[in-house]
Amino acid sequence: MKAITLTPHTTTIQIQDWPEPTIQHPDEIKVQVLSVGICGTDREEVSGGRADAPAGEKELIIGHEMLSKVVEVGAKVTTFKPGDLAVITVRRECPSCPACAIARSDMCLTGNYTERGIKGRHGFQAQYVVDKVQYAIPVAPNIQKIAVLAEPMSVVQKAIDEATTIQRARLPYLQNKANWLEGKCTIVAGLGPIGILAAIALRLRGANVVGIDIVDETSPRVKILRAIGGSYFNAKIDKPETIGQKHPYIDVIFDGAGIAELDFDLWNLLGINGIFVLTGVPGAQRLINVDGAALMRKLVLKNQVMVGSVNESLQHFKNGLDDLVAASKKWPGVVDKMITQRFAYKDFAQAFGKHTQDEIKVVIDWL
Ligand SMILES: [Zn+2]
Ligand SMILES: [Zn+2]
Repeated sequence: MKAITLTPHTTTIQIQDWPEPTIQHPDEIKVQVLSVGICGTDREEVSGGRADAPAGEKELIIGHEMLSKVVEVGAKVTTFKPGDLAVITVRRECPSCPACAIARSDMCLTGNYTERGIKGRHGFQAQYVVDKVQYAIPVAPNIQKIAVLAEPMSVVQKAIDEATTIQRARLPYLQNKANWLEGKCTIVAGLGPIGILAAIALRLRGANVVGIDIVDETSPRVKILRAIGGSYFNAKIDKPETIGQKHPYIDVIFDGAGIAELDFDLWNLLGINGIFVLTGVPGAQRLINVDGAALMRKLVLKNQVMVGSVNESLQHFKNGLDDLVAASKKWPGVVDKMITQRFAYKDFAQAFGKHTQDEIKVVIDWL
């Protein structure tokens, strides 16, 4: 079969012939890859950054955001049959921590987890993949066109789940509310794929969403945000403080950008008992000045929480797929617009090439 491989810590990526995986155990499934999304992590990997081949190997098949079709199932598999759509999760448990022992490798304590396509385990940019059925989630056929967004959407689900768990636990007046986000005022910083998906998930839960980016009004990012009922704030034109004039009480700030300067500015807008959820991983950025004492004062006097969230559990994948189904019903055709470019796998070099201004999610099609 064909696979896109990277020699980790170099910029050498290529398509090569690779042995096709076969089912070795009765609890495994074999899938044909349909499409694989590319994100900042992939771009970091192929620029020579964070990536590890499996132990003893020199190359890594990249790719971790996938959609596939089942072609074969092991003898003990009852939950999938050939022809079903499936997504496969990314992270695999370490052998020795209590989080991994209960299938929550997203909370791994040792750091010895592996990740398909990123860390010590081959990924999904290939024609076929075999994995244990416990890591596969069924996909409804009516969202086939957007289900490749399942992985980034699961990142969003975990972050919102973290915020929900924390806020419900500490704010007694939220404990009996079926949907604590209903009517809440939220800010989403950065309208890349994670930010837009966060805006979608928050709007589905009835929250008001102010999305912040630096693209102009005609950008597809802004069009999608407006189509789901969010409002746009251009941080290139206005200072974030002015958001506070229109929205004096912000309950939740969701960071999908990882831009330190913007986030610390936004903190001034967070209301009493508010929560700031971080999912963006900052790259090298210039040093910024932060008034640490003022920050601590705000945290204490306003009962605020800042929480970081990475990766996801199997349940977050399921929740994410449910949200994609709900979003495609509520706003037909809108989520589809997030996939701005599709490339055949042979054209992978173009897919990893320069960003265009209108780009949101680039996808490689394997079929
Ligand atoms: Zn990703
Ligand atoms: Zn672990």
